[in-house]
Amino acid sequence: MAERASWSLGAALRGVFGAKRIDEDTWDDLESALIRADFGPAITEELVDRLRDDVARFRTTDPKDLQRMLRERVEDRLAKYDPTLKLTERPAVVLVVGVNGVGKTTTIGKFAYYLRNLGRSVVVGAADTFRAAAVEQLATWATRAGSVVVRPEREGQDPASVAFQTVELAKRDGVEVAIIDTAGRLQTKGGLMDELGKIRRVVEKQAPVSEVLLVLDATTGQNGLAQAEAFIEHAGVTGLVITKLDGSAKGGFVLAVQEKTGLPIKLIGQGEGIGDLTGFTPHVFAQKLVG
Ligand code: GDP
Repeated sequence: MAERASWSLGAALRGVFGAKRIDEDTWDDLESALIRADFGPAITEELVDRLRDDVARFRTTDPKDLQRMLRERVEDRLAKYDPTLKLTERPAVVLVVGVNGVGKTTTIGKFAYYLRNLGRSVVVGAADTFRAAAVEQLATWATRAGSVVVRPEREGQDPASVAFQTVELAKRDGVEVAIIDTAGRLQTKGGLMDELGKIRRVVEKQAPVSEVLLVLDATTGQNGLAQAEAFIEHAGVTGLVITKLDGSAKGGFVLAVQEKTGLPIKLIGQGEGIGDLTGFTPHVFAQKLVG
């Protein structure tokens, strides 16, 4: 698995970790590999400095030691954030937010499937009511995942009323998790944030919101993060979902994004299939990233 993951540093660092001994080239090669993987300049510099210290302190010249040290440092930093989904409320209401195109619809379908596999009952609310195609796509995914769908009665119906009906159904039928899709039109940022605020207020009349998950696309990496700033500032985000890791060379984004936003990654998407969403485990991720 490690060598197949395209976001792993395996290929980029083969020269570094496969070399005979650690020398000056090692540090240049390591630095450029980390930059290319989207760790960002600050984290890259910090990691390289710390690793230089580690190597000096342990008086090693073996690149395999360096690999282990990098893996441990990455894992330690990833593990500073708690990836556990908080879904203990009944029903647990999850709002899913993010810019159009990042994989939000697909992620909700996969998330419903993921929860169903854990034995949870799920209702999905299609509260992105202005994108008829997105509603259909979401309904198809949710049905495949074996969950109930609440759709708008007409295009453009008040998103908050769809959210309300979704939570209402969950309460009435004893459904454990209500996942609510929301709009991602960035063109009308102010209006969108007001809409999300209204959804939350209306939902909270019936049940607390357990999680607000922000979906981010790994292929755009740190550049794409700027677009999501408004959600982080205004939508009460509790966790991140990183999608399209399978098509990305930006494994370092995973570390950078937690540290930049201060938010934990809770799920990662690695493919277009319904089963291609997993929980986030720092140990496993660091192992696959660094090898
Ligand atoms: P939305 O506009 O944010 O709702 O985005 P969609 O869910 O419609 O997804 C946009 C595109 O990204 C679709 O072609 C999806 O199949 C694709 N996609 C979503 N998640 C992943 C993923 O984890 N890996 C890959 N390779 N593609 C993904």
